[in-house]
Amino acid sequence: MSDVPPRILLSTPHMSGREQAYVADAFASNWIAPLGPHVDAFEAEFARTVGSRHAAALSSGTAALHLALQLAGVRPDDEVLVSSLTFSASVNPIAYLGARPAFIDSEARSWNMDPALLEQALEDRARAGRLPAAVVVVHLYGQSADLHPIVDACARYGVPLVEDAAEALGATYHGRAPGTFGQSGIFSFNGNKVITTSGGGMLVSDDDALVAHARKLATQARDPAPHYEHSEIGYNYRLSNVLAAIGRAQLEVLEERVLARRAVFEFYRQALAGVPGLRWMPEAPWGRHSRWLTCLTVDPAEFGADREMLRLALEAHGIEARPVWKPMHLQPVFAGLPTWGGDVARDLFEHGLCLPSGSNLRETELERVAEVVRAASPSARRNPARVPAAR
Ligand SMILES: *Cc1c(COP(=O)(O)O)cnc(C)c1O
Repeated sequence: MSDVPPRILLSTPHMSGREQAYVADAFASNWIAPLGPHVDAFEAEFARTVGSRHAAALSSGTAALHLALQLAGVRPDDEVLVSSLTFSASVNPIAYLGARPAFIDSEARSWNMDPALLEQALEDRARAGRLPAAVVVVHLYGQSADLHPIVDACARYGVPLVEDAAEALGATYHGRAPGTFGQSGIFSFNGNKVITTSGGGMLVSDDDALVAHARKLATQARDPAPHYEHSEIGYNYRLSNVLAAIGRAQLEVLEERVLARRAVFEFYRQALAGVPGLRWMPEAPWGRHSRWLTCLTVDPAEFGADREMLRLALEAHGIEARPVWKPMHLQPVFAGLPTWGGDVARDLFEHGLCLPSGSNLRETELERVAEVVRAASPSARRNPARVPAAR
């Protein structure tokens, strides 16, 4: 026996309790295969949830982005413009296709792609006579990028827009789901996302032919014929019927999960209101932030310790916190690639931290996190009157 409290993790799977009934149905019907009735139902229910004509369930968000880019027409030696502040999975599929990424900085008010810099990049490339083959906009940590000017700029230059909404299921932009504004959008059901199938992804689009082609490519690109006939290279990218069964039960509680994550954010915001030098990731005026992760920046002069000191203090208390994504333009693997701006994303990386944000965290756990954050600030300790008591 030990009285060490259990570790508090960043974001863990949160089952609804209905998953096993759906999975049992898959077993009872012996659909333990890729494809099957749960895949069809999950796709239809997902498309309805986000407001897209079609959805194709795939083995991961990364696989979905790979297909989305190929179907946008990205070919070897093409250039693809992409948000710099993101997870590497937003960029790797560009390299799978033999194309070259080029990076666009964030804007401070949403932490997402700066539309003015995208406009600048497109103008620069148009003037040089070589437009990018696609733009990938990422909706970070549960918040939509400012899509209207991004959609407009892409339309004006005739460049297809692909949306990486892997982190943003449950968010809105002027009332609609990010992921449904571009030619196609992708979502992830990895274990740490707002809902999970343990692993999986979705490609959404209003383009019938694009989604039909995606499904074909994802199943080894079989041509319609009784034998195995192939006229292009395919992949094994479909989601299994068992995992789709889990996804259906998870989708039923999506709204609850978003409200729970927003409540986690609100708890931290109130509990840490008096601590100097902490600034929360803003919620931009254009829609709902799902608060997939609660993120903040630490001003070391005001807080009295820097981001890394705070992270290590949390780690010492068994609490997992992670720095904000290291921007892609600063990654060794992408060194030297063209970048428009870059300072906003670098600053967010240097000062930004993501706190435990799971929809299944208990209030006692949130209190533990808030207490360690407060105690890590010598400034907060010097001004105890400004520190509210934990709820
Ligand atoms: C999780 C994630 C992905 C990849 O999704 P997987 O399902 O893990 O392949 C892509 N982009 C972003 C921004 C992500 O956070």
